[in-house]
Amino acid sequence: MSKYDVVVIGSGPAGYVAAIRAAQLGLKTACIEKARNKSDKLALGGTCLNVGCIPSKALLDSSYKYHEVKESYATHGIGTGDVTIDVPAMIERKDAVIAQMVGGIGGLFQANGVTSVEGTGKVLAGKKVEVTAADGSVSTLEAENIIIAAGSIPVAIPPAPVDQDIIVDSTGALEFQSIPGKLGVIGAGVIGLELGSVWSRLGSEVIVLEALESFLPAVDGQIAKEAAKVFKKQGLDIRLGARVTATKTSDGKVEVSYTHNDEEKTETFDKLIVCVGRKPMSSGLLSPDCGVNLDERGFIFVGDHCETDAAGIYAVGDIVRGPMLAHKGSEEGVMVAERIAGHKASMNYDCIPSVIYTHPEIAGVGKTEEQLKADGIAYKVGTFPFAAIGRAVAANDAVGMVKILAHEDTDRILGCHIIGASAADLVQQVVIAMEFGSSAEDIGLTVFGHPTLSEAVHEAALAVNGNAIHMP
Ligand code: FAD
Repeated sequence: MSKYDVVVIGSGPAGYVAAIRAAQLGLKTACIEKARNKSDKLALGGTCLNVGCIPSKALLDSSYKYHEVKESYATHGIGTGDVTIDVPAMIERKDAVIAQMVGGIGGLFQANGVTSVEGTGKVLAGKKVEVTAADGSVSTLEAENIIIAAGSIPVAIPPAPVDQDIIVDSTGALEFQSIPGKLGVIGAGVIGLELGSVWSRLGSEVIVLEALESFLPAVDGQIAKEAAKVFKKQGLDIRLGARVTATKTSDGKVEVSYTHNDEEKTETFDKLIVCVGRKPMSSGLLSPDCGVNLDERGFIFVGDHCETDAAGIYAVGDIVRGPMLAHKGSEEGVMVAERIAGHKASMNYDCIPSVIYTHPEIAGVGKTEEQLKADGIAYKVGTFPFAAIGRAVAANDAVGMVKILAHEDTDRILGCHIIGASAADLVQQVVIAMEFGSSAEDIGLTVFGHPTLSEAVHEAALAVNGNAIHMP
């Protein structure tokens, strides 16, 4: 039986990062992965690299370039003639991007001395991990420490069973070989909006059916309201309070029945994407006597430092509480590896940025205005529009705003919410500021380069205390 200091189950952004950090710290480490890709090769990198963050961004980038050339190059005086899109070539490029990144993880494992083990891992009692290979053979690894990073899978809903042909989940939506004339999306969350945007930019008529009455309830209300306006202008038809009750596929199309404003309605689509959330991948992962427990929602129950109820067994990433985000899982992976190595690492869950990669992007960190109100915290607000930022106007990309929330008495920054071009990168400036406990005045006193989009962050911070210079 092979013996390791650390055995990691799952090679997604939580697991592979944990494995590399553990190996860097001198621990003998193995990482078990069961997934295989379209070419039947080991698929390191988890959901994020293979069917999540990276492929969706590859398609968002391709579709945005197409859209930009068609819709806004003329404004810059650039003539382009007939612009075409070759969807199979776009999908092939996406696959090449994945292959490059997956290969990169294999290389990092080799460079750091992580043993890559192919197969399905199961945690047994006594800190043993049973590995079942694709050919059915079974082996057992013994570990001083186990890190479970088995991730998550899409939630299925009975009225819309996924066939990965006409009714697809987020994975199937990354594989369309032609542009659907009419595309339905169930769920107006991050994934639904991103995938809806991809195909809308390429020319699909997109209707998004969302059961909730409010749009992007986790996003700051002012930003969500602005987003709803922008998406409507882009042609995304988002129907709130629309509950899907049944689907019927025939002749290569799907008829969707749903209730909306107390009325029964139907809509027929060429493709339907179901993206109503993700659930932890915990089934078949734990033997009943291994000592690891699940919470009431099926996530592995962990404490503040990702320790499970069994000594020496940890869980990180989508399979535990907290936002289902790649960077959250990676930081948990680093924290756990360092704690196993005897360091006192911990992680700041109050400073995790989240992004929706539409155009404009929507990014936020910390508390929303609604949360501050609900918590009874006295706050000040500074907002600044990109329409008053020279660089944004020069780029013909001046939609949206930066909003910063600070404590009324201490001026400490409590949250930042942005809708606009490059919001994902801009918000990171405030994430760093918050990590260092900055006040809005600290950002206001910082020199920002001109002309940059970042000046909107500077001006919003100044606006918190009524000192913005270019406020229209
Ligand atoms: P996963 O990435 O799910 O990896 C878990 C791995 O464990 C998988 O490879 C799985 O095969 C393996 N595994 C499971 N069980 C076993 C077992 N028993 N034995 C061996 N291996 C096993 N997040 C962001 O932060 N930014 C984004 O832009 C973003 N975009 C997304 C877009 C889409 C379309 C989707 C679906 C998700 C997106 N996410 C994004 C979410 C992100 O992908 C996840 O939060 C992240 O992948 C979770 O990492 P993880 O390591 O916990 O799990």
